[in-house]
Amino acid sequence: MTQPTATTHSISNGPIVLFGGTFDPIHMGHLRVCLEAGEALAADEVWLLPSATPPNRGLPNAGAAPRAQMLERALQGQSVMRADLRELLRQQAGKPSYTIDTLRELRAEIGPTRPLVWLLGADQLAKLDTWKDWQRLLDFAHLAVLTRPGAATPPHHVDAFLRAHRMPKASINTAPAGYLAGIEVSQLAISATKVRALLSSGRSARYLVPDAVLDYIAEHGLYKAI
Ligand code: ATP
Repeated sequence: MTQPTATTHSISNGPIVLFGGTFDPIHMGHLRVCLEAGEALAADEVWLLPSATPPNRGLPNAGAAPRAQMLERALQGQSVMRADLRELLRQQAGKPSYTIDTLRELRAEIGPTRPLVWLLGADQLAKLDTWKDWQRLLDFAHLAVLTRPGAATPPHHVDAFLRAHRMPKASINTAPAGYLAGIEVSQLAISATKVRALLSSGRSARYLVPDAVLDYIAEHGLYKAI
C-alpha cells in the first residue's frame, strides 16, 4: 500500500477552504459541496483533509491509505481541490487527530493574515461541543456551515456561541479567522453510509461516486462487507 504523503502549498493570498471528513468513500455530495463552497467564498483553493480515526465516531470501514488513494483519484483532472493528508499522517505517527490541532498547525504554516475557512456539515454543527477545544476553533479559522438534508440543529449553548460570532457581510476576505458563515449548497441526499450499503449488497453506486473511485473500489475489493 502506498503511504499517504503531505502536500505542498501555494503562495496565493485568497481564502483557503478546508473540508474534513472520513471520505469512506469520497462521494459526489462531498465534491459538489467543495466546488460550491469554493465558488461561494471566491476561494481558489479547497483542501480536503481525510480524518484518521475521528475521536467522536467509529472506525472507518476502509483504511487510511485506500481512503487517501480514493480521494486522489476523485480529484484527478481539476485544479481547485487538493488532498491534505496531515491528519492521516498524524495518526500514523501514533498521535490523536483533532481539528483544533490541524487548524493551529495550518495557521502557523500560512501565517497570520490569510483567511482559513473550515467547512462544517450542519450535522456536525449539531455536535460541535463534542470537539476538542471547540470554542477555540475560531481563533484559527472561520467556520462555514453547510446546509444538509435532515440535519439536526445545534444545542442552545452552541447556537448562542455561534450567533455571537456571526460574520458581518463581506468580512471573509478581510479577517483571517473568527467568524461563522452559512453557505447554501445543493441538497444531494448522498452519504458514504448509503454508498457502503449499496456496495456491500452488490448494487451499483454509479453516479453517487466518481467512476475513478468506483474502479479503485472494484480493483481492491472494498466495501464487500460492512
Ligand atoms: P458517513 O455516512 O460515513 O457518516 P458522510 O457521507 O456523512 O459519511 P463524511 O466523510 O463523514 O461523509 O462527511 C464529511 C463532511 O461532508 C461532513 O461535514 C458531512 O456533513 C459532509 N457531507 C457528507 N455528505 C454530504 C452531502 N450529501 N451534502 C452535504 N454535505 C455532506
